[in-house]
Amino acid sequence: MLFERIVVGAYAANCYILADEETKEAMVIDPGSEADRIYRKIEAKELTVKYIVLTHGHGDHIGGVEQLKKLTSAKVLIHHDDAELIESAELNLTVNMSGPVAFKADETIGDDKTLEVGKHKCQIIHTPGHTKGGICLYFKEEKILFAGDTLFYGSIGRTDLYGGNHKQMISMIKEKLMELPDDVTVYPGHGASTTIGFERKKNPFL
Ligand SMILES: [Zn+2]
Ligand SMILES: [Zn+2]
Repeated sequence: MLFERIVVGAYAANCYILADEETKEAMVIDPGSEADRIYRKIEAKELTVKYIVLTHGHGDHIGGVEQLKKLTSAKVLIHHDDAELIESAELNLTVNMSGPVAFKADETIGDDKTLEVGKHKCQIIHTPGHTKGGICLYFKEEKILFAGDTLFYGSIGRTDLYGGNHKQMISMIKEKLMELPDDVTVYPGHGASTTIGFERKKNPFL
């Protein structure tokens, strides 16, 4: 699988590009800003972006969506319960960031949906707590989890914003993520990657 991490915007959000090396079919996770820079990587590798998947609806993860969609014609996906965030600049907090952003998803998705790019498959895991419709994307074969702002290296996402719920966050991480094998690499929405095994042992919030 082709894999690229690009750190974008004032909040240093991680945008990920994943693609099948043969078919060149790709998915972009969280184009939070700097759509031009993300698109240059896509062009350089001659990828066809099938999906733009949003781990949740906060401004630092969605700022580049509209422009990247124009450039790629990819389908924008978000969990049902975070659709209201991307449709409201107040709720997605962009009114307080670099300027209001509001748009509609092409499709809303739920728990256990499977997405495919070429031969690579990922399962959607609904992990509310940071927002109501936060998701993780789990590539079982590749042993990779994209965790959005749910689980970070040695930390967890904040739960004091609209739709946040600390109790729910902890139980989602314990029930749905800590069940995964130790050697699954976790790529969060900000900062360095980690593993399920490391977080199970060392994360002070769990
Ligand atoms: Zn967030
Ligand atoms: Zn974030």
